[in-house]
Amino acid sequence: AVRVRFAPSPTGFLHLGGLRTALYNYIFAKKHQGSFILRLEDTDQTRLVPGAAENIEDMLEWAGVPPDESPRRGGPAGPYLQSQRLALYAQAAEALLKGGAAYPCFCSPQRLELLKKEALRNRQTPRYDNRCRSLSQAQVAQKLATDPKPAIRFRLEGEAPAFQDLVYGWNRHEVASVEGDPVILKSDGFPTYHLASVVDDHHMGISHVLRGSEWLVSTSKHLLLYQALGWQPPQFAHLPLLLNRDGSKLSKRQGDIFLEHFAATGFLPDALLDIITNCGSGFAENQMGRTLPELITQFDLSRVTCHSALLDLEKLPEFNRLHLLRLVGDETQRCQLVGQLQALVEEAFGSQLQDREVLDPAYVERIILLRQGHICRLQDLVSPAYSYLWTRPAVGRAQLGAISEKVDIIAKRVLGLLEGPGTNLTQDVLNRELKKLSDGLEGIKHSNVMKLLRVALSGQQQGPPVAEMMVSLGPKEVRERIQKVLC
Ligand code: GLU
Repeated sequence: AVRVRFAPSPTGFLHLGGLRTALYNYIFAKKHQGSFILRLEDTDQTRLVPGAAENIEDMLEWAGVPPDESPRRGGPAGPYLQSQRLALYAQAAEALLKGGAAYPCFCSPQRLELLKKEALRNRQTPRYDNRCRSLSQAQVAQKLATDPKPAIRFRLEGEAPAFQDLVYGWNRHEVASVEGDPVILKSDGFPTYHLASVVDDHHMGISHVLRGSEWLVSTSKHLLLYQALGWQPPQFAHLPLLLNRDGSKLSKRQGDIFLEHFAATGFLPDALLDIITNCGSGFAENQMGRTLPELITQFDLSRVTCHSALLDLEKLPEFNRLHLLRLVGDETQRCQLVGQLQALVEEAFGSQLQDREVLDPAYVERIILLRQGHICRLQDLVSPAYSYLWTRPAVGRAQLGAISEKVDIIAKRVLGLLEGPGTNLTQDVLNRELKKLSDGLEGIKHSNVMKLLRVALSGQQQGPPVAEMMVSLGPKEVRERIQKVLC
């Protein structure tokens, strides 16, 4: 059975790069009726970020790619938090020690620091000099007496096995001659990434490891560990990195690649899933507007290429617009959007809502239906340009008089237009009728009629087209706002 995992370290909140790795795992699992597992790699306790573990799981749920097994959900292969699996790593380290594939290391932090400094001074990559590898049994026993909890190192020896990566093809990295023996278990009993990852992938029955290409080189080390432990390794597929459009690294410092940010600013999960799979990997063609079920049917791992995926976040609003349109077209989803927009209006204008009728679901729904396709996010409807939809402007007579002396006559004519058959005018018809109306008023410029209406309806000099405002507000509200001008 296919079992895949997303294994982030809770050292930061979930961002787009992480989501992409999680999504490919999710899609691969669903495509093969397999399981998608979330494992939190919290072995470096010094780098934990408070709230990150919760955030990662929350955001996966929000994005619509919830794990089947996870710290929160539990599952048959749990626990899913590495800090709760220390016994398994100790057991594996013990087996490696017994088999001679690992050895205790008594080197002090000071000595290791010195080695590092020396290497850097000689412009070399720091590496452990494998000094404790050659300790005799007697020496080990003697050192254990004063240092009962040494770190355990893995003997990187021999040729690393070649492996066929499902994306990068045949690979083999000469780790043994390049790197020093890595610590696999620290003296505090916590494993390092390499051991923990191998032990967990084995015990959790992982069939395919789909992870970022930055781990490609480590895979050789992992395969040596599998070999030494006598375990069958899973298959590997390394995913090319997600980069900015200009090829630079996705910057976490900007703060705008975190899922939390997108959720809070009104972007739809589907739009995010769509844009991160539209970077040229895994699909026959790029195509905007795909939904998750479509992504699952159309995904093909053999189409993932080694090229980095370039993300153009400037296109996100357009992706969002498409997915918002789709949701509006679905009655159940539209109902939810109505609720969301009501909450947004309440939040943005709560204290200024003189007229609670604007929160009427029928009105809110009408606004969504009218504006769909023109807006990218629901949030756009509470921007200053659209505040006229929710609040009545406070317009003084003097303000209008400054635009035209003929305020009364213009207002009366417009009211006339909105009587009877005028109650259901479309934007086009309204534009035509308003032009006719201005033409029929001697000495009054059409532009001033429109300016006057704009200010009377919204209190603003600029904003959406006047006819659009009139259609959105509806004839009754337009009449009331104009009547206010007359008295
Ligand atoms: N904890 C590693 C990370 O944060 C996981 C790498 C892997 O998937 O093996 O990326």
